[in-house]
Amino acid sequence: GNADAEYDVVVLGGGPGGYSAAFAAADQGLKAAIVERYATLGGVCLNVGCIPSKALLHNAAVVDEVKHLAANGIKYPEPEIDIDLLRGYKDKVIAKMTGGLAGMAKARKVDIIRGNGQFVGANHLQVALTQGNGSEESGEQKTIAFKNAIIAAGSRVLHLPFIPQDPRIVDSTGALELKFVPEKMLIIGGGIIGLEMGTVYSTLGARLDVVEMMDGLMQGADRDMVKIWQKMNEHRFDNIMLNTKTVAVEARDDGIYVTFEGSKAPAEPVRYDMVLVAAGRAPNGKLIGAENAGVAVSERGFIEVDKQMRTNVPHIYAIGDIVGQPMLAHKAVHEGHVAAENCAGHKAYFDARVIPGVAYTDPEVAWVGVTEEQAKRDGINITKSVFPWAASGRAVANGRSEGATKLIFDAASGQIIGGAIVGTNAGDMIGEICLAIEMGCDAEDIGRTIHPHPTLGESIGMAAEVAMGVCTDLP
Ligand code: FAD
Repeated sequence: GNADAEYDVVVLGGGPGGYSAAFAAADQGLKAAIVERYATLGGVCLNVGCIPSKALLHNAAVVDEVKHLAANGIKYPEPEIDIDLLRGYKDKVIAKMTGGLAGMAKARKVDIIRGNGQFVGANHLQVALTQGNGSEESGEQKTIAFKNAIIAAGSRVLHLPFIPQDPRIVDSTGALELKFVPEKMLIIGGGIIGLEMGTVYSTLGARLDVVEMMDGLMQGADRDMVKIWQKMNEHRFDNIMLNTKTVAVEARDDGIYVTFEGSKAPAEPVRYDMVLVAAGRAPNGKLIGAENAGVAVSERGFIEVDKQMRTNVPHIYAIGDIVGQPMLAHKAVHEGHVAAENCAGHKAYFDARVIPGVAYTDPEVAWVGVTEEQAKRDGINITKSVFPWAASGRAVANGRSEGATKLIFDAASGQIIGGAIVGTNAGDMIGEICLAIEMGCDAEDIGRTIHPHPTLGESIGMAAEVAMGVCTDLP
């Protein structure tokens, strides 16, 4: 035809879903390309999401940890924070990882077409080539033909219409730029992203307020776990406003004035030096010309897919944030692999029983599968067992015994269907509970597995022993 290039698979978007799909397609012997408007692969996750936030959170956690040491006889002077060096460290981490991806694409002969892609038919994508550091168009166009397409165009920050433009009002991307540390900071939205960034800024010296419309922070996580987190983090906050709406935001010379509405909301507008808007993310489904390919997009911009990750157009797949919640990188990656295998003619299905969630705060909160709240709501009969970290020799030795590990079992079958951990390194440990759920383990399977002593991960084995009625007297 009259295309500039032709591929077995074209992936629209180079985030974790997109590059994983393209690499997997190439590994299956298919000729694959990624269309990405930015100069680097990695999408939101690597450039303005998971990885830069963790680079900052790691440093914050070390600063906080050092403060705990004073009581043990090791006292450091107050840290001197060079915000430019810290930002530079974060940028180096991103560069290292995006550079690695570029190398992996090259090794697999995956073409990267730099530009804004729009479907112009069921087998063609038009790309307005971009240049520089952003997504500025050069004026040049390319038309690409494909046998299969995988839409991995992700999501963007949800902007609230009543919030003005001002350098002191930032979204997660702006917060990661680390331009200045405010004295008083408001976080709009008490979800993972807001609380992670709040943790960083608070450790750097900011006082925090958080406003959340729902009745608790970290929606989706087990309430008993969040309670422990909240107790450990009270010192960061002046005011945690739950069941409260933000109704007006006004930028004045001396600060950002915010008006709240709710039974416990402050009567007068409150002044802040920085406002972080972390009120959710919107899918990019309406921005890619999907209608020209006949791909159905919902009112809100999500694309519906079946278990093979196919859209209503069978040779066009969609994966990642653009297909719905949870908007998490590990979900996107697994969906990407499924889509690629189907492009290669295998019959693959996205059939995960559970997808874990983690707040990489201090302490971390991690949860997977059925929560107690969900069990109650859905009428699932459960038994639960909790192992408090005060009984973990390792947690006590670390001086961080505020954690807990909880397992949730289906009362009828005895199989594990959920679990949650609050405490240091919780995110690194939740994978074992995910595996146990996927394998249909019961308490005995987990409790009789010998975990190394003394470790925090041992708390999972101990929680299972609690469920078995075994006395856990190891510490
Ligand atoms: P994206 O990462 O959104 O990538 C989509 C890509 O497509 C982008 O690069 C975009 O430029 C490109 N694109 C879109 N439209 C076009 C077009 N028309 N033409 C060309 N290119 C286009 N998740 C976790 O699992 N763990 C975490 O710790 C975590 N932390 C986060 C922290 C923050 C601050 C944020 C904002 C998010 C975080 N997430 C985290 C969520 C995670 O970043 C997303 O779930 C993940 O990036 C989704 O991947 P994706 O491939 O679907 O899309």
